[in-house]
Amino acid sequence: MDRTITGFCADEAGLLVARLACGHGWRGGPAVAPADATQAEMGGTAACARCDRLELPAGFEVYKTTRLFNQDTVPKGLLADHTTRRGVWGRICVLSGELDYVVAAPVDQTLRLGPSTPGIIPAEQPHHVVMIGVVEFRVEFLRAPLGGETTSTSGEDSGLPR
Ligand SMILES: [Zn+2]
Repeated sequence: MDRTITGFCADEAGLLVARLACGHGWRGGPAVAPADATQAEMGGTAACARCDRLELPAGFEVYKTTRLFNQDTVPKGLLADHTTRRGVWGRICVLSGELDYVVAAPVDQTLRLGPSTPGIIPAEQPHHVVMIGVVEFRVEFLRAPLGGETTSTSGEDSGLPR
């Protein structure tokens, strides 16, 4: 999915990594030194494959957790498409039972969640849940650690934009 470039940093080898609004790093174009990144590139977008794969950015921390919901107390808002704010990821944690987690376009996936299969919600990605029976779950909200975005780039994509 396309993500706004919010800044640049250097990787371990001193090569340029774009920081995206989702919290992921992205290596795309020709390798240039961070000092050569022009202001013009800020505000551009890059296709983030790690968001498409629902990969939580490295180092993100839980800062808020909802109370426990069940099939009867689930807030109506969770049953229709909604999004988290920029930079905020979610994690649906099922304690018992199952539910369906529907990720809208551009990801376009439906996942059956249970106690051993949490659902990862990318920042700003439209999604909703579907009650399919008796279930207990809560939602955790995660963001980059206080003091700035994570600069860890281990495991980041090195592929070209798609
Ligand atoms: Zn991303």
